Amino acid sequence: MAYHLSVSAILSWFNVLPLMMFSHSLLTSLAHFPDAHFSVLHTIHAQANKPVRHKMPDSDKRTLATWHLWSLDPVVVELQLCPAARAVKIAELMIPRHIGFLDSNTGSVARKFQGLYDAAAPTLKHSERALQLNARLLKLLLQKKPSLKDDAQFHPPLIGSEDTGKASQDLIDNLENCHYQKHASTLTFRPSTINPHIKPYIETCLLNSTLPHEPVTTISIMHCGALLSLETAAPTSTSEIHLLSGMRIYLSYPPLAHNIALLQAYFQELDKGLIPNAAKVCASMLDGIAILQQPGQIVTIPPYCPTLVFAPKTNAALMLRAQHKADLPSRLHYVDLLVCQVGASQRVLGHPEAVDGAVEYKIKQLYADLSVFLGAKGEEDMVDGVSMAAMGRAWKKGGVCFREMVERYVCEGVREDFLNSVPGLWTKAVRLRSLTKCPVCEKGTRDIGSTFMEHFWREHWGGNEGEGEKGTD
Ligand SMILES: [Zn+2]
Repeated sequence: MAYHLSVSAILSWFNVLPLMMFSHSLLTSLAHFPDAHFSVLHTIHAQANKPVRHKMPDSDKRTLATWHLWSLDPVVVELQLCPAARAVKIAELMIPRHIGFLDSNTGSVARKFQGLYDAAAPTLKHSERALQLNARLLKLLLQKKPSLKDDAQFHPPLIGSEDTGKASQDLIDNLENCHYQKHASTLTFRPSTINPHIKPYIETCLLNSTLPHEPVTTISIMHCGALLSLETAAPTSTSEIHLLSGMRIYLSYPPLAHNIALLQAYFQELDKGLIPNAAKVCASMLDGIAILQQPGQIVTIPPYCPTLVFAPKTNAALMLRAQHKADLPSRLHYVDLLVCQVGASQRVLGHPEAVDGAVEYKIKQLYADLSVFLGAKGEEDMVDGVSMAAMGRAWKKGGVCFREMVERYVCEGVREDFLNSVPGLWTKAVRLRSLTKCPVCEKGTRDIGSTFMEHFWREHWGGNEGEGEKGTD
């Protein structure tokens, strides 16, 4: 309620000062979109002639031709109130007709997003259960026991010889200072010792994964004006972010081939040590969603959605990341993207030497999950909605790449095990489900002229069947 009041109060002067501040940048960014350009110009002219505009009832606003612009009001208003220079750049991404505004009351934007790639869309919900941890308690805990954040790191790292310990303490002390912007960076750490305060809550979350990994829990504290850029998202996981204080703005794009290609090019540039402009990349992406998150709300971002997170206010959040069996086909399909993302994020953190180890860990995890899926009886995997057909299609795209990753990143000893056992896993999956067609190429198992194992080795595992144990099918 308080929020609605503040927005209407702001809207009453929205047209006088902030629109003038923003009109130049907004118009610059809209130059590529003639239709939108016209609408904005039209709005600005209309407003210039009427310097005092009283807030119109929502029903009137919705009938205006410029509704698509007004629908982004809540996000644009918060960006205008943010003193950080970067807020202007983020506002430039609020391109009418290219970004929809997601609030917890309207589902149309999420439905459109969902329709685009036939999977989950980002969501914004009010937390149904109270979390025992709030910003004040978090601050107290961290002030009492500074060792709780021993593994904390800034993303991006602080520039020059800045003392990370002191900077993190300053940020924690200023957690309730909504425009504290000493650094444009985000402090993240694993809250292992805060666990007693969050464990009962986490156990009730809907993130229970059927894969053999615990959800990863992280606390992140953002300076006002900080940006968590595209490389910080964990593409293979569903991320659930519980905001404890302040405010966050998300820009999330669906994993359309066009968007993923842009994301991959961005990662590759970072990996080469270049500094690509994330905002520019996002400006070229299609069909995004803007989300404005308040304390007590939970934002869920599905896997493979390129996402930026901006802090219009100093904020703290608890994040849970989990991998689901239903996302296994995507992990195979985008296995090359995963490698670029790991490379990009480690390089940004200043640890290029850690890339190989981090990729090896991910590849081993994928292998383990694949074994669980392929070794499961048919009915079990249907629970998660993963079919052999979806896995077969994903393998067609990513199987050979997965093999290359195993050869390149997995340590000797384990590598040979992986290489030799994959065709056997698929053979077992086909047998368990009594399939009459190869899930990858859809040839009938009677027509392949050899055992399924030999066929898989030859056609889908880039090797010769002599390398592995012979199948019996
Ligand atoms: Zn086949």
